[in-house]
Amino acid sequence: MPQCDTGSLARDGPRGPVSAAVAAAGALPKRVKVVEVGPRDGLQNEKIVVPTPVKINLINMLAETGLQVIEATSFVSPKWVPQMADHTEVMQGITQLPGVSYPVLTPNLKGFQAAVAAGAKEVAVFGAASELFTKKNINCSIDESLERFSEVMAAARAANIPVRGYVSCVLGCPYEGKISAAKVAEVSKKMYSMGCYEISLGDTIGVGTPGSMKEMLTAVMKEVPVGALAVHCHDTYGQALANILVALQMGVSVVDASVAGLGGCPYAQGASGNVATEDLVYMLHGLGIHTGVDLQKLMDAGAFICNALNRRTNSKVSQASCRL
Ligand SMILES: [Zn+2]
Repeated sequence: MPQCDTGSLARDGPRGPVSAAVAAAGALPKRVKVVEVGPRDGLQNEKIVVPTPVKINLINMLAETGLQVIEATSFVSPKWVPQMADHTEVMQGITQLPGVSYPVLTPNLKGFQAAVAAGAKEVAVFGAASELFTKKNINCSIDESLERFSEVMAAARAANIPVRGYVSCVLGCPYEGKISAAKVAEVSKKMYSMGCYEISLGDTIGVGTPGSMKEMLTAVMKEVPVGALAVHCHDTYGQALANILVALQMGVSVVDASVAGLGGCPYAQGASGNVATEDLVYMLHGLGIHTGVDLQKLMDAGAFICNALNRRTNSKVSQASCRL
């Protein structure tokens, strides 16, 4: 059984200081903020619509592991994402622990208002580094898509609600193929300038390699401070942990992950979910990096949701531990 880090990690509030700065170039961060995206990014892309009480229980179990950030749901129209139709019930049903933030995705002002009314204290907006992806997905250009956020950004600023920004397709696009690092840097800079406190760089289809991750981050870090960057790696080509390690070596100290590796990508056939949170935490602890997360409790949460979905975990760590 791997050693679990049960030590208490000072929890930053949503507006709190950005995670540990890296002292020297190339040094690993001392602590990493793990952003759990399973209940939203994961479950949104699962075929089965999970009953609301199961989602609430999952989120509460995840909060008990010591995770600081758990993306809870998405305030999009149920017409587009039926898996998240119960967003209000989920937000009202969970026990919000102090020191844990529960951001929700809010693509427009209507979603933002509904989210705040349901008790959301942090929101996230979604952009892409691919023109074709944006066109096919929401039928507008990248710039037009960013314009649409401005209403959300203004409302969030007025309500003192922090906004996290996602940039998807940063290492490849199902329609465009390769995405230029300069384009990712440009979109990231725009979202950061609009007021997103953190930019999560998503390899949505999981095609990136440590080489392309390094090239992309080098470009983005010229435009956005590394303390405001997160990486979000899907494991389609089995490169997620390697890509994350490169990001850590470059000073990134916020990493998205999905418990049990839940999810996939609706835009790419066969795309895997996010890197499993269990595997990420195991690697981070192995590197001597603090996360504040109890790995055993995390594996319990993973087992709970896999049981509910009647599927096998995608976490290698959990699979290995099951055989013991
Ligand atoms: Zn994702």
